[in-house]
Amino acid sequence: RAKATRRGGHVIFESSIRQELENRLTLENELALAADRGEFELFYQPQVRLVDGGLVGAEALIRWKHPTRGYVSPGEFMPVVNTSALSERIASWVMETACRQARRWELSGQTVRVAINLSPSQLHAGDLAHAVAILLDATGLAPSLLELEVTEDILLHDEARVLDMFKRIQELGVRVLFDDFGTGYASLSYLKKFPLDGLKIDRSFVLDLLADSDDAAIVGSTIGLSRQLGLTVVAEGIENRATADFLISIGCEEGQGYFFGRPMPAEAFERQFLAAECEAVSAA
Ligand code: C2E
Ligand code: MG
Ligand code: MG
Ligand code: MG
Repeated sequence: RAKATRRGGHVIFESSIRQELENRLTLENELALAADRGEFELFYQPQVRLVDGGLVGAEALIRWKHPTRGYVSPGEFMPVVNTSALSERIASWVMETACRQARRWELSGQTVRVAINLSPSQLHAGDLAHAVAILLDATGLAPSLLELEVTEDILLHDEARVLDMFKRIQELGVRVLFDDFGTGYASLSYLKKFPLDGLKIDRSFVLDLLADSDDAAIVGSTIGLSRQLGLTVVAEGIENRATADFLISIGCEEGQGYFFGRPMPAEAFERQFLAAECEAVSAA
């Protein structure tokens, strides 16, 4: 086979495509096994009010606790999950796990909104509004403590149905935010017609905010636009105090980033951000 691949360009091409397909199938099989074995975990990253650093919520971020490789980040496997038969199963697990966690925190007397990242399959198969209503009912979680993050690119198909679905999700009292805002395609027209509570400014505009005047202009006008439209703004990717201070000075309300805390297991999150109240509940 090695000889054949050296002979012509098209042979090398075919063989690398075959290799990619094989890798993908292997990963898909491993992911199905991982789901069976319960190897997925949700980490939680704090979201804070910038002016005083007070905790407002947590974003749930999936990790694969691989038996030999340790924690694998979602960038390495979610693209495969999202385009495989596993997608709905894992998406439902994420929703249910995050809602149960949020309910436990709610019962401990803490007001922690939990934000969940939606997968494309949740928008295109079945009625997400119905699924969310059932989950809220089953867990007892206050709808205002649930936040759904959706990227612009997964909205591009089946527009009327998706808009109607999100209208009903918002009517439940659940908050809806655009994630990675500014990196998609349909930004401005969608802002007008989509039932929306807020925007998350993508970290690619925030990481270099103090040094790059283009980023500063984009972030500044996104904040202005959001305020005009009555939307909450959350800046992602805040890694230092100077960036947080600058964001406060241009009117950004909420933020998330390594400066405030990395994504971490629920227990670590409780210890660092919810200390006293949770201990009281788990001790009871
Ligand atoms: P995202 O929703 O935009 O999540 C924010 C990502 O930024 C997280 O990466 C987080 O760890 C990272 N981040 C947070 N603060 C900072 C910072 O200060 N600096 C830098 N450099 N990065 C920061 P993570 O956890 O690797 O997740 C990557 C993406 O995978 C997420 O982007 C989201 O699109 C997707 N994802 C994660 N969990 C889930 C899930 O449960 N379901 C679905 N459908 N997608 C998920
Ligand atoms: Mg997100
Ligand atoms: Mg994001
Ligand atoms: Mg992202």
